[in-house]
Amino acid sequence: MPVVQVEALERRFGAVAAVQGVSFDIEPGQVLGFIGANGAGKTTTMRIMATLDVADAGRVVIGGHDVMNQPEQVRSQIGWMPDSYGTYPHTTVWEYLDFFARAFGLEGRARENAVADVMAFTDLVEIQEREMDSLSKGMGQRLCLGRALLHDPSVLILDEPAAGLDPKARVEFKRLVRLLANDGKTIFISSHILSELEEMCDAVLFIDNGQIVHHGSAESLMRVDDESAVYVVSLASDPEGLARWADMTPGVELVELTMKGGRLRFPMAEPRQVAEALRRLVADGLPVIEFRREERRLEQAFIETLNKNETLNKNETSTTAVGNGRQS
Ligand code: ATP
Repeated sequence: MPVVQVEALERRFGAVAAVQGVSFDIEPGQVLGFIGANGAGKTTTMRIMATLDVADAGRVVIGGHDVMNQPEQVRSQIGWMPDSYGTYPHTTVWEYLDFFARAFGLEGRARENAVADVMAFTDLVEIQEREMDSLSKGMGQRLCLGRALLHDPSVLILDEPAAGLDPKARVEFKRLVRLLANDGKTIFISSHILSELEEMCDAVLFIDNGQIVHHGSAESLMRVDDESAVYVVSLASDPEGLARWADMTPGVELVELTMKGGRLRFPMAEPRQVAEALRRLVADGLPVIEFRREERRLEQAFIETLNKNETLNKNETSTTAVGNGRQS
């Protein structure tokens, strides 16, 4: 059973359709990345899941509880980390966590332990007496994550937790997410930083204009089908030689020349034919020092997915327009 089920979610703000028919499941223990440009609908989706906003249509069930009808039960199971959180003046790290532990209904020794455990996990023990408005961005994010963990929730919803962190703090944050995942938590995490999610997540969910445009493993997005596989070739000589060779060789297309050589495509080629092409390249006297299949980066895959979606939408619109034209 998926621990999170989102079905046909819709949310409008006046004329803006922020979320349009979003559906997905998250399996227990899965780390699912949520990727989308500014205004794509990530925060709106997450806020509905976290019981902080109400959908116009559709439903969300977390741990068997409907967010609309059983928000209390849902809140006890989720840890929510917003993309920005308010700081309180003259409040120390410890006081802040203790306050939220009380809000979560923890009492006595259980509360003390929860605050101590969270501070140890998020590396806040040494700065527990610091006032929270004096913290660095990285410390603040760790504190915000700590707040979300106080009641030991099984599902974490993290809205852009790495935004604005410096590289060191980002690495540290990633490590904490990985530890939580190893601990069996189900994690839904949004980001603009695609390469980060690629390393952290079991699967990624792409949202554009309030609609899911891809749901799958990061690898499935980056895999290049054989038809469009591109090979990078580097030479120890003038790259022009590669252009001439590609021109004369059937079944080879030059995608572009680079400083060191070029990028070649072998349309419809079997791996054996690619191997044969490499043998010919060498036999024809080109000094090959590198020959490797190019991998798409997640960023590139994302852009291609968005472009595909845009083309689909345009085609649908023009089909509708043609249909209307015929009728009138
Ligand atoms: P970002 O990465 O910038 O946070 P996002 O993917 O989280 O973007 P949302 O914040 O969900 O996107 O916004 C989706 C759309 O809904 C945007 O066009 C936004 O302007 C609009 N929107 C969100 N909240 C409101 C609101 N309370 N009132 C009016 N419009 C809103």
